[in-house]
Parts: sequence; C-alpha cells; structure tokens
Amino acid sequence: MGIIWTPIQKQRLQELNASEAQREMCFESQQARDRAFQEQEHSLVVEGKRRLMELRDIKRRPSLSVLEQQLVEALTQQGFVQVVTPTIISKTSLAKMSVSDDHPLFSQVFWLDSKRCLRPMLAPNLYTLWKDLLRLWEKPIRIFEIGTCYRKESKGSLHLNEFTMLNLTELGLPEDQRHQRLEELASLVMETVGIADYEMELTTSVVYGDTLDVVKGIELGSSAMGPHPLDDQWGIIDPWVGIGFGLERLLMIKEGSQNVQSMGRSLTYLNGVRLNI
Ligand code: ATP
Ligand code: MG
Repeated sequence: MGIIWTPIQKQRLQELNASEAQREMCFESQQARDRAFQEQEHSLVVEGKRRLMELRDIKRRPSLSVLEQQLVEALTQQGFVQVVTPTIISKTSLAKMSVSDDHPLFSQVFWLDSKRCLRPMLAPNLYTLWKDLLRLWEKPIRIFEIGTCYRKESKGSLHLNEFTMLNLTELGLPEDQRHQRLEELASLVMETVGIADYEMELTTSVVYGDTLDVVKGIELGSSAMGPHPLDDQWGIIDPWVGIGFGLERLLMIKEGSQNVQSMGRSLTYLNGVRLNI
C-alpha cells in the first residue's frame, strides 16, 4: 500500500478533470507524491488553457449548446416537433403529476410563491400540449422539449440544481410497438450524442412507477410509457412513450468528465474547464 493524494490534492485534481488513473496514483514517499502533484497539476492547467483557447478561437460555443442543436436537428429530421414551454409552472399541474405534499420530489421543488414553482420536469407541460394537439393533429403526435429544469439536490457529482432536460414523446402509437419504439428513440439520441455501449435497465421511478432507464455507468435517461395511471388526470387515453435525458450527464459521459457541474450552467467552469487555473 503506497502513499495516496491528500484530500485537498485529490479535490484539485478532480476539479481539473484528472483521469481516473491520475486520481488513483500511489507513491513511495510524501516528497514523491508532492512532486508528482505539481507535475500533474501543471499539465492539467496547460490542457485547460489549451481548451479555453480552442473555445475562443475555434469552437466558439459550449458543448451544451452544440449538443442541444445536434439533438434538435436529429429529432426534427425524424418528424419530432420542438416545443418551448414555460419554466414557471403551477402547483396544480405538479399535483396532476402526483407530486404533492407527501411526495419525495415535492421537497426538491423550488417554490416562487404558494401557487407557482420552477419546473422540476418537462412532463406536465407536454401532457398539457398533448391534450390540445390531439384535437388539432393526427396521431401519432411527436413532440419534444429541451430546457432547464430545477431540483433541490443534496449536491454530489451527478446532480445540479438546474440542469437541461430533453424530453421526447410520441403519443398515439400501437400499444404493441411501445417497447421497440423506446429502444429506437434511445438509440437515436445516444447515436446523436455519440455514446455507444449503453444499457436499458428496468427501474422504479417515484413519479412514473416502473421505468426503463438508459444507463452507462450512471443513469442518463428515464423512459415511461402509457396507458399510465397519471393519464386520467390529463384526459389522455392513447398509448404513448416518452424519454427524459439530462444533457449535462450525456456530455459528462461522452467527454469523460469527472462531474456534471463542469458541463452545466456555471461561473466556475467554462465549457468543462475550471476557471481558477
Ligand atoms: P437520479 O435518480 O439520478 O436523481 P432521476 O431518476 O430523479 O435521477 P429523472 O426524473 O428520471 O431523474 O430525470 C431524467 C433525467 O434527467 C435523468 O436520467 C438524468 O439524466 C437527468 N437528471 C435528473 N436530475 C438531475 C440533476 N439534478 N442534475 C442533472 N441531471 C439530472
Ligand atoms: Mg430517472
């Protein structure tokens, strides 16, 4: 058993997006470790500066915005219509998702006043649109939204208080095609992002009951299908499928980054690069 990084060194390496191999290094003496730290930190700082230059001179847009655009293009190409709905939603529409006082998600909601909150998910707005679109368009109805959602989270490297959700939905498809369609939609998104070797895993969600999650080491997306007990609240009777992905988590896995914070809305990171370098 050799000597490992001090907690402070380890944290700094994590901020600077060190690889797992770098974070798990062992040494024979403290001097050797501290010398190695300086070298590792230096090379990560150089790499960070290089990436910031690349952002300024070539890319000019953060990965989060580029991914959003790529997803919009891929989905509209496949017949999905983009929608843009309010980030401020009513307590009533959350309650229709069964998220009320005694629900686990309820305590994670940012309230603006007694009747309004910042949306923790896109589903209530999409359900609302479905109801009108069912009258106006033929089935299947294919809509998606990409936008910020807000949840009080107890931090950690996978959770942001504000993150970017993609929710894509198809309403009015043959019931026996739902599973296959979910697989196709997951694959369309994962291919667009550029992540291979993901898995679909059956889990239980606090809002939707049983869901089929898209997983690669961590949860990247959660899917649900209807007919579903919540549908009654919205007057929906047709079969549907839907998947919600977190864009920052997709980027984290795609770019091999250590935390979701570096990929999200931030003042400490710019496009994945820690600014105190
Ligand atoms: P987790 O169990 O990891 O907290 P969840 O199951 O509560 O996530 P969902 O409601 O299924 O999350 O949301 C769909 C997707 O949105 C998740 O698969 C994840 O990619 C992303 N997501 C959810 N919460 C956050 C968050 N706080 N920060 C970043 N991404 C998130
Ligand atoms: Mg989930």
